[in-house]
Amino acid sequence: MVARQIAIDGPAASGKSTVAKLVAQRLGGFYINTGDMYRTVTRAVLDAGIDAENDPEAVVALLARIDLRYRLVDGVPVLHLNDEPVILDSIRAPEVARVVSYVARIAGVRDWLRERQRETRALGTIVMEGRDIGTVILPDASHKFYVTASPLVRAKRRLAQAGEVVDGATLASVAAEIAERDRIDSTRAVAPLRPAEDAIHIDTDHLTIEQVVEAVISRVREGQP
Ligand code: C5P
Repeated sequence: MVARQIAIDGPAASGKSTVAKLVAQRLGGFYINTGDMYRTVTRAVLDAGIDAENDPEAVVALLARIDLRYRLVDGVPVLHLNDEPVILDSIRAPEVARVVSYVARIAGVRDWLRERQRETRALGTIVMEGRDIGTVILPDASHKFYVTASPLVRAKRRLAQAGEVVDGATLASVAAEIAERDRIDSTRAVAPLRPAEDAIHIDTDHLTIEQVVEAVISRVREGQP
């Protein structure tokens, strides 16, 4: 079977992770979450006591001291920081969500991660999700999708995910946090969040996860023997 590169981009809490993971499983491909890579760098930045918003040079200097890559564990790509598997709870924490967009707007960070993301192509068929996969990381991807949902639906979905929001968070506070992250992600100078010209848009407001997965898979299989 020919290796495919499937790019799934979209804003925060649009449901793209759930969809990308299922699409990878069903196509027998490898699931790569580039948001987790930005979050892991952010975790390291916080642990080092660096102020990412005001001290981007210190963030870039930190990169020389860390090793971040996907390694196969029992045939599944697992993100490793300095040879240790990344604990997903630690990078989904609210304090990481608050700072990650400041880290992700630093050109030196994006340059550093770009090659690490591209090298996963060697695995074979990959389903890679993020913000700039169709536009920058895999511009020649065989299939590109842009997954969206309205701000209210996204806030509701995020609020329903345990561990990702601070205790006592309300729909309004979660919506505001997501809106701020979208604002920084879509207005930054390098690789802003935007759909690739050739991306297929999927508005998930009124679709179930299964319907979104089906929509993606049927487009991928279209024209295949
Ligand atoms: O996908 P997720 O919400 O986990 O991504 C966390 C953050 O990482 C985004 O808000 C964005 O700032 C950054 N990101 C990015 N480019 C990507 C993936 C994530 O800038 N390809």
